[in-house]
Parts: sequence; C-alpha cells; structure tokens
Amino acid sequence: MEKQKICAYCKEEKKLTKEHLWPNSLHKRIYAANEQNENYFWLSRLQRTIPNEPTIKDVCAHCNNVTLSILDAYICNLFDREFINIIKFNEKISFEYDYHLLKRWLLKMSYNSARIHSAHDEKALELMLPYILGEDDNLGRSVQLFALLTYPEEVKKREIDKTITSDETIIIEPKIHRVGHILFKVPNIGQKILRVVHLRSFSFLLAFWPSAGGKAEQNDFESIITSKMNGLKLLRANKKNITLECVGIGAWMSLKDARSQFEFSNKQ
Ligand SMILES: [Zn+2]
Repeated sequence: MEKQKICAYCKEEKKLTKEHLWPNSLHKRIYAANEQNENYFWLSRLQRTIPNEPTIKDVCAHCNNVTLSILDAYICNLFDREFINIIKFNEKISFEYDYHLLKRWLLKMSYNSARIHSAHDEKALELMLPYILGEDDNLGRSVQLFALLTYPEEVKKREIDKTITSDETIIIEPKIHRVGHILFKVPNIGQKILRVVHLRSFSFLLAFWPSAGGKAEQNDFESIITSKMNGLKLLRANKKNITLECVGIGAWMSLKDARSQFEFSNKQ
C-alpha cells in the first residue's frame, strides 16, 4: 500500500510536488544578478562552502502554486525593487514593505528549511501555519521581525583559499542567500535563538514568543537586541517603510560561520 502523503501546509492527503527551498522565480533573479558580478568566481566558491539545500517533497500543488506562490510573487517584486541593490557601508535607505506578505514568506522559508533539516523549531513554525497561509493575522503577533543590512567587506584572498600566499585582497559583496539561526546571547540576561533569512544585503531576523505572552517581554527584547546589534531595526505591522542604515555587519563576517553567533557584553 502506498504511504499516506500529507501536505505540510493544508494537512490534507494529496498528491505532493517537489520544489527547491528557494523558489525558482526568485532563484533565477538571484542567479542573473550575481552572474553580472566580476567577483562571480569567488562568490560561487563561497556559496559552495555552504551546504546545498535539498528539495522539499511534502507540499501539495494547491498550496504551492496558489496559496504560497502569492508570497513568492511578492518577494520577487521586492527583489526587483530592493534586493537587487547592493547597499554600501553607511548608506541609508528607505525600505518599503508589506509587513504581512514579507513576514509570511520569511516564516514559510524557515518552516521549509526546518523540515529539511529536522530543526528544533519545526514545531514552533508549524504553529504559525494559519498565519503563513493568511488565515490569521493576529497569530503573527507572536513573532517579531527585525531587519539588518550587510555591507561589502574587503578580505584577503588567502582567507578564502588557503593555497594563496599573497596579501591580495578582494571585496566580498553580500550576495549570498541562506536560511539559518542566530544565537543572541547576553551574559547575565539570557539567550535566544532566532531564525534568520539572508537575502543579499538584507538579513531578516525572526524572534518567536508564546502567543499568550505579554507585549512587555517583546518590548524589552527589542530594546536589548537593537542596542547590541548596530543597525538592527524592528519592522512594525502598522508601518509601510523604515529607514535602514547599512552599518550592521560585513559580508565576510556574516558568512564565516553559517550559524553566526553573537555574544555581547553588558557594556554598551
Ligand atoms: Zn496543501
């Protein structure tokens, strides 16, 4: 007997499709944008050091091509307007966004990645399904969304390729896309694991809270994390744009460890 196939989104028994983690429509744009770059050779080399994302085979055609493709279409639109640009150090931009479409897409990417890697937060992400599917905007209040900009960074080539002995340098631009975690740790206060989605110059951080939890806890966390991570800003549901300053982190630093860890002292 054939094994029951349940869609990871609608939870119905249906014929399932096979998809890559990064939607094809978006992947094509990323590829085209990177190909024009003179540092393409170095970028593809760096990209290879990051494990490949296998495919997802547990989503039905309706969820994929109807419900979730609205989110993918929105991100492609945002890519053409915002993510295509590589932002320079200290540059200030006004980032325009549709809060729920952006957050639902980031949660979808995180949920897909969590299932691929059997990550510890798979269940927490699964609880967000009614929000991801656009059925319950209130549920989204239990997840905070932060944005941070990554700047191009000059690196010695031998840091990337050990066979190089010269002091020659290269500018690494933030052109990598990946989904992972960040451990935010403040001694004597505590730590929290956040989801992070990197898309070229932009890094989006998602912080999860109990849905019944008070707003005070979220406000406290916002003031601590934004005071420790330079350039990090909370995006709000009642706003349509935010000014972001590209002072966050260098592209090479951000890449060095796919599971970036930030540890901060209590000193400002
Ligand atoms: Zn489905």
